[in-house]
Amino acid sequence: MDTLVKPADDKKVILITGASRGIGAFTAALLAQQGHKIVINYANNDAEATRVVTQIEALGGVASCFKADVSKSQDVSALFDYAIQSYGKVDILINNAGVMCFKKIEALDDETIERVLAINLKGSLYTMREAAKRLEHGGKIINLSSSVIGMKLEGYGIYTASKAAIESLTAILAKELRGKNITVNAIAPGPTATELFFEGKSDELIAQLSKAAPLERLGTVEDIAAVIQFAVSHQSDWINAQVIRANGGIV
Ligand code: NAP
Repeated sequence: MDTLVKPADDKKVILITGASRGIGAFTAALLAQQGHKIVINYANNDAEATRVVTQIEALGGVASCFKADVSKSQDVSALFDYAIQSYGKVDILINNAGVMCFKKIEALDDETIERVLAINLKGSLYTMREAAKRLEHGGKIINLSSSVIGMKLEGYGIYTASKAAIESLTAILAKELRGKNITVNAIAPGPTATELFFEGKSDELIAQLSKAAPLERLGTVEDIAAVIQFAVSHQSDWINAQVIRANGGIV
């Protein structure tokens, strides 16, 4: 009987990129409530990052925030230094920082292409590289992809391309970490009600995408954080090199 029981979840040090708002902020609060120590990364929004830390501490949790632009490799290195100096180690990386751009390919300017690729692709690569070197044995890397990869939506070209690259890196890094007992997976939400989703879209498009899944609603930060919580837990220990789509059946 004992062999059927998964070990209880011990307390981990979890670094979440882009955790000042949206999915990352809600996930930080949820995981802190379970006793994990959380490093909240963000790029610009000092007030929001501090608010997440204050909220966690008010409920008896442990968290601190560190400003670092994931598109800069020296910032990512400093972010891991900070986490290890503060808590002694990093067990889990939730690679969540990201930006969206809704523009047809013919309308994309160079600056937008560079920005989306720098944050979503290079940023994820820098954090995965650092995690590959510095995560504890038994650790987990959880990358945020997107279900738009399966949908092939007009206007989502550069964003989809950046996320497709993350799914490729997920599978390859999982293999490269053979022998370290570190899993690498991606979670691919569908349209989820955060600033990232609403920004730059017409009311008509928002209404259309809100009804696109058979469940006929947008995802919520609660929906996605619940899947991330599973990926953090021992219940997911045998899942490796996979993409988990959480999208209400949209694709
Ligand atoms: P969000 O509400 O817009 O929050 C984005 C977060 O990323 C913020 O904390 C922001 O920090 C941070 N960030 C942006 N650029 C950064 C950089 N260069 N370095 C470090 N942090 C940076 O976004 P979200 O909807 O929660 O999205 C979270 C993840 O889920 C993203 O990877 C996104 O692609 C993915 N996703 C979202 C959806 C959706 O519909 N919402 C669907 C599929 C996948 P500041 O506050 O400091 O700017």
